[in-house]
Amino acid sequence: MNGQLRVGVIDGDGIGPEIVPVVREIADAAVRGAGLTVEWVPLAMGLSAIESDGDPLPAATLDALDGLDCWILGPHDSAGYPDRFRGSLTPGAVIRKRYGLYANLRPARAYPGVAAVRPDIDLLIARENSEGLYADRNMALGSGEFMPTPDVALAVGVITRAASQRIARVAFEHARRRRNHVTVVHKANVLTMTTGLFRDACLAVARDYPEVTVDEQHVDAMAALLVRRPGDFDVIVTENLFGDILSDLTAELAGSLGLAASINASDEKAMAQAGHGAAPDIAGQDRANPVALVESTAMLLDWWSVRGHDDRGAAAASAIRAALSETLAAGEATADLGGSMGTAEFGAAVLGRISGQRITG
Ligand code: ATP
Repeated sequence: MNGQLRVGVIDGDGIGPEIVPVVREIADAAVRGAGLTVEWVPLAMGLSAIESDGDPLPAATLDALDGLDCWILGPHDSAGYPDRFRGSLTPGAVIRKRYGLYANLRPARAYPGVAAVRPDIDLLIARENSEGLYADRNMALGSGEFMPTPDVALAVGVITRAASQRIARVAFEHARRRRNHVTVVHKANVLTMTTGLFRDACLAVARDYPEVTVDEQHVDAMAALLVRRPGDFDVIVTENLFGDILSDLTAELAGSLGLAASINASDEKAMAQAGHGAAPDIAGQDRANPVALVESTAMLLDWWSVRGHDDRGAAAASAIRAALSETLAAGEATADLGGSMGTAEFGAAVLGRISGQRITG
């Protein structure tokens, strides 16, 4: 890897062109401060790409992504695309499928200075992202949902041992770098074959990680426990649908969905993507909060670091998190968090704190 990073940057729709440049500036300072060199590769996607290329996800963007390890995906407002693009997969879904980004990692951590329902939350959900009940991803051809008659609808849920073991391994590797605890979430008392297979596959992987404590919960009990005592959990591994729902719950417990970071990753490629959408209602007003995408980008740097055995990526990620925490703890925030700063001003405040740090790997 030679300390050289090439990162794709996709502004996207709505607030994307306001938050992505802020994210890039912050990441640029942290990465260079850690002694890495970085080349940013701007790529087209969304409404502006429809205007320029007649396609929300132009072939040139996909060609460029083929040659990149990691990229930042700004939000897309697919609901605002012209009718002829309705019913197609969203750009994020196309990219996720094309590169087999099977691990959706969603942290939930309460920031100091931000009102959180549960200030004691600090966990990571490792959500299986390639199968389960989601009709857009569990079939090679066709959809996993179908209607034999207008009054009967069926959905196919797919769980495989291989995909379950793959996400379990990601969860246990993260637990090793966190607090050595994994909770397997399933519903094996009812969905015995499918989520039972998921549970068994995860528990089999657990045997390779004797230093990690492993326990299991039914998804309904888990929802209650997360509200009651989230501080008991470190890494949660679960199938697609359960992970989607639980991670929205944990994001709210940590403060707001607007702070929710995530990456979608495989072993070869990773994409930073905020949990929120394009927020067209506040686009162009300098009111958007960039925190979720900044934190997602820190996760991208962690992923790069682990994959390439280069600690400097992780050092840059830590510097970004420290600067975010200090800024928010000082009460400097955008309006959605009760602050008075605009997007650019908030970004400059975080950047100032990065520039003042000594970043070492
Ligand atoms: P999608 O279906 O694409 O997730 P959505 O319409 O459900 O989109 P968002 O675009 O995330 O949801 O917007 C939901 C609300 O949250 C809006 O009022 C929006 O202004 C607000 N919001 C979302 N992201 C941010 C942000 N980064 N900063 C400030 N407000 C935000």
